[in-house]
Amino acid sequence: MEALIIGCLQTNFFTEADRWANIWIAQHPHDWLARYWHGAVLDAGNQYPLAKEEYLKALELNPNGFDIHLRLAEALMRELQSLEAAHPELVTPESPTQRVGAPASTRFAPVKHAAPMLSLSNAFNEEELRAFDQRVRKLLGRDDVGYVCELKIDGLAINLTYVDGKFVQGATRGDGLVGEDVTGNLRTIRSIPLTLREPVKGRLDVRGEVYLPTASFEATNRERAERGEPAFANPRNAAAGAVRQLDPKATAKRNLAMWAYSAAGLEVASQSELLQRLDQLGLRVNPDRRAAKTLDEVIQFINECKEKRHTLKYGTDGVVVKVDRIADQERLGYVARNPRWATAFKFPAEQATTTIEDILVYVGRMGTLTPVAALAPVLVGGTTVKRATLHNLDEVRRLDVRKGDRVIIQRAGDVIPEVVRVETDAREKGKTYPEFDMPAKCPVCGGDVIHPEGEVAYYCGNPICPAKSGQRIGYFVSRGAMDIEGLGWKTIEALMEVGLVRDPADIFDLTVEKLLTVDRFAEKSATNIYERIQAAKRRPLSRILLALGIRHVGDTTADDLAHWLATRLPKDAALGAVFDVLRNVSVDELQSIEGIGGVVAESIKEYFSRAEEQEFLDKLVRAGIVPVMPAPRPAAVTGPFAGKNVVFTGTLERRSREDAEALVRSLGGKITGSVSAKTDLVVAGPGAGSKLEKANKIGVRVVDEETFEGMLP
Ligand SMILES: [Zn+2]
Repeated sequence: MEALIIGCLQTNFFTEADRWANIWIAQHPHDWLARYWHGAVLDAGNQYPLAKEEYLKALELNPNGFDIHLRLAEALMRELQSLEAAHPELVTPESPTQRVGAPASTRFAPVKHAAPMLSLSNAFNEEELRAFDQRVRKLLGRDDVGYVCELKIDGLAINLTYVDGKFVQGATRGDGLVGEDVTGNLRTIRSIPLTLREPVKGRLDVRGEVYLPTASFEATNRERAERGEPAFANPRNAAAGAVRQLDPKATAKRNLAMWAYSAAGLEVASQSELLQRLDQLGLRVNPDRRAAKTLDEVIQFINECKEKRHTLKYGTDGVVVKVDRIADQERLGYVARNPRWATAFKFPAEQATTTIEDILVYVGRMGTLTPVAALAPVLVGGTTVKRATLHNLDEVRRLDVRKGDRVIIQRAGDVIPEVVRVETDAREKGKTYPEFDMPAKCPVCGGDVIHPEGEVAYYCGNPICPAKSGQRIGYFVSRGAMDIEGLGWKTIEALMEVGLVRDPADIFDLTVEKLLTVDRFAEKSATNIYERIQAAKRRPLSRILLALGIRHVGDTTADDLAHWLATRLPKDAALGAVFDVLRNVSVDELQSIEGIGGVVAESIKEYFSRAEEQEFLDKLVRAGIVPVMPAPRPAAVTGPFAGKNVVFTGTLERRSREDAEALVRSLGGKITGSVSAKTDLVVAGPGAGSKLEKANKIGVRVVDEETFEGMLP
């Protein structure tokens, strides 16, 4: 049985991940990959190598913001590691435990590390830490071990290569064996010396962590918010993003710094000595470290750090504990690629008690409604927290969280805080705690909220809801509208994630270079998309009008509007001129356009007067979009049918219904399907029923086929 589970984990997934998958899917209903993968999780007995491959690919493509994936991957890895530790005979070279970190991207030249960059096993509580200590003492066969404790920095692991004391190459960890050459970017970091204080002969590899100081991290997120770009979830993501910039100047702006913590190529007897040597060589070594003779001293240091860490100028998520003596380290060796002489203690998620002041509903950019708890402000992990996600209605029900409740909230690392538990005992007698329900109308646009059967999530059903910018962009580029092939949902989400695209007009600002900063693009695919975008700058006017997503304006109305505009503007009119006409037209004028009724006219007028649309419309004009004016419709002739609404009903005997209708159209008349006050003429043949009745009732002129034929020229 264990062999089966290990096999599944090595090549597949396991069920503890199920909960995370549910939450992810609720927040990202259009993520087909998550759904496919979820299916695989639910049926862990089967093999879904493709799903796994796709999942890992997605993780690589978009590490930012995919925090849920990362947490999931962490959980999977831990489970597998512990099982493999119990059954070492089942470890395969393909097992994910044999691979560290994410594989190197192809954008930077690969660098093979002289010695593999290790990853550490984790300890999440004192018990696990004591187990580590016992193992070490047992393997060494003595009790006086001696450890060094160092803060675990929330940053990006890198390797610096010095030859004869000169910095020659810098690389990311990559998969531990092969990383990416980011030398140019690392050179911009001031705390990385380009020349060591002593010219150490030969090759020296220094390992450390590049990080973004908290102040810079917060400033970066503030700037991103001002530009309307999504915030980085944690300093690690921000640092990774900065180090992997294509342009070193962009890296330089981020104010990165580095702590060095290990090296290969120095003759030392212990880790403490190594850290001293690095310091002497001019490398920056974190002063918050301590040598500990016993595990109790280690725990003492960890407890001090737990308190102190919120006052530090950088993010830390734990303490690394290493056996101090190098000779001992060598005796202990490695299991898989984890050294047996070190472990990383992770600080626990921090909790606090507060009150739910309200439960709000946010509309995501793909239209999902997410319940969010508005909290009485409370300090958790050094940050004031005012909001916590409730994920979805099922989660609200599971927790039974209500307005007015006392709740325990939790914040792990820098992820969005969540509600862990409601203190139902704290509910006061006689006070009402209203049960939360999803609203029937979208809080942003007032559109109907829909809840597809069998789904957890609720969505705003209005396709042009302003909250759903992603959906709006998807509509803009769709086939009937601007028709930009290759810009699918996943691509749009990725472009929005990095802040390149916020509204549909931003698409026209994309360059090959900008597209290449998104991991999913390679030179060829970026060039292809870029060319398609350029081609889409020339589109029929009716399609451009349709793409705007004006309420009630479908293809027929867009076409009618375009034809009307063509009669008022020169053939080569610019888009700006088109918008000017529409901004200045009155509702009455619009209503006089063939095919446009009162509701539609109001909607068009409202759209072009909306203050928040003006910038978007101007951007489209500046993007250089060229509208192709429609060819004029056959001129409306004077005659009995010109400008008349005609309805045919019953059977015609002298010609077919289609012929008769085409004839009327060619004479400038309009065919409608039903009789109303706007109808000018009803042609009724034998068998006419309700339409004839209605025409008689409201006093519309009715003729028989004979009379109709007589009216034709
Ligand atoms: Zn809405």
